[in-house]
Amino acid sequence: MQKNDKIENENISLFTVSVIGGGLAGLSLSILLGRAGYKTILFEKEKYPFHKVCGEYISLESWSFIERLGLNLSGLGLPIIKKLVVSSPNENVIETKLDLGGFGISRFFLDNELKKIALETGVIIYEETKVTDVSFDDEIFSVQYNGGELFSKIVAGSFGKRSNLDLKWNRNFVKEKPNKLNNYIGVKYHVKNNHAADTIALHNFHNGYCGISKIENGKSCLCYLTTAKNLKDSHNSIKEMEEKILFKNSFLRKIFVESEFIFEEPVTISQISFEKKSRIENRVFMLGDAAGMIAPLCGNGMSMALHSSKIAFENIHLFLTGRISREVMESNYIKTWNKEFELRLRNGRMIQRFFGKEKLTNFFIGIIKPFPFIINHLVKATHGKTFF
Ligand SMILES: Cc1cc2nc3c(=O)[nH]c(=O)nc-3n(C[C@H](O)[C@H](O)[C@H](O)COP(=O)(O)OP(=O)(O)OC[C@H]3O[C@@H](n4cnc5c(N)ncnc54)[C@H](O)[C@@H]3O)c2cc1C
Repeated sequence: MQKNDKIENENISLFTVSVIGGGLAGLSLSILLGRAGYKTILFEKEKYPFHKVCGEYISLESWSFIERLGLNLSGLGLPIIKKLVVSSPNENVIETKLDLGGFGISRFFLDNELKKIALETGVIIYEETKVTDVSFDDEIFSVQYNGGELFSKIVAGSFGKRSNLDLKWNRNFVKEKPNKLNNYIGVKYHVKNNHAADTIALHNFHNGYCGISKIENGKSCLCYLTTAKNLKDSHNSIKEMEEKILFKNSFLRKIFVESEFIFEEPVTISQISFEKKSRIENRVFMLGDAAGMIAPLCGNGMSMALHSSKIAFENIHLFLTGRISREVMESNYIKTWNKEFELRLRNGRMIQRFFGKEKLTNFFIGIIKPFPFIINHLVKATHGKTFF
């Protein structure tokens, strides 16, 4: 049966845009589309609100954009972070003021607030619904999910670092053998302690780094990235790994020992990859981490996810109003994405290689200690300008 007949005969919905994955990229795109009057559906496999592995430090470059989406950040009394402290595994310390800086907010809170705004703009949200495949034919996408199928004119994939769809589509980065850019794990806790509200600290340890900064309601987010090997060498026990490896940096030991932990168990993810990814796959727009993930220590992944959605929206809008063809929409998106983010990703990969290794980190921090402004140059190399 032809798609159009199927839509009519079987009463299957035709949406203008389907968005797969309701993190920051998917939610922000949905809000922009909903507000512009497009019939939009967002699929999220989890149920809001939920915790996510993330350092929860957002660069101030996206403050105005988030407010424009409809979230009154100014009224939330969030910690504004203007100072960076970095320690090396051998406990050399650098302190510097951040030129732009950031703010702290939990994903549990932020994503849920954006979800409420998306609903208000008329977006339909299917929670606890996993998309299992997408195909494109005759200018229409078919979206299959656990529970059914629907059609849409455009599909955006904002399904994060690694999803069932990456495997289903056999994307290049999932085919890579484990290497220095693709076999990381992330662990996150919310804790209560006396960490300074204006400071983000980044403590390095053997094959990893751990960030701590304040979020809403006086809590702190304590989050680290390390290699799968570190966990394996600790009999796959997070606790053993922390005590055996992280605690060798006494700053970390102090934080872990003196904090009150709010979760019983940490939130964790594995198989994090910083490999290159395609910006369009199977005619689907890739947004946020699905298009390319910057090393977490750069603290810019969330802003990039939000900004990529803004760029996608601008091009989708031009296509839907008949001003450009589908091909031009796709190539414009790729061009603008590359111009905005490619250099940041490259710099992020270079920094990730550096900070992953104990001796190199010790050497690097030792060398630049008298010149802390160099850190600000590195931060700038992985950040963009304010957008809204
Ligand atoms: C350890 C660590 C620390 C970090 N710290 C920071 C930081 O301090 N600052 C910063 O800016 N960035 C940080 N990042 C990066 C940041 O978390 C990401 O860049 C950001 O979350 C990307 O947003 P996203 O919307 O692309 O993906 P996500 O927020 O991951 O959202 C993807 C969503 O898609 C859903 N999904 C997946 N597959 C499907 C499917 N098939 N169907 C339906 N739903 C699906 C998932 O459930 C998820 O909710 C960190 C990352 C890590 C790993």
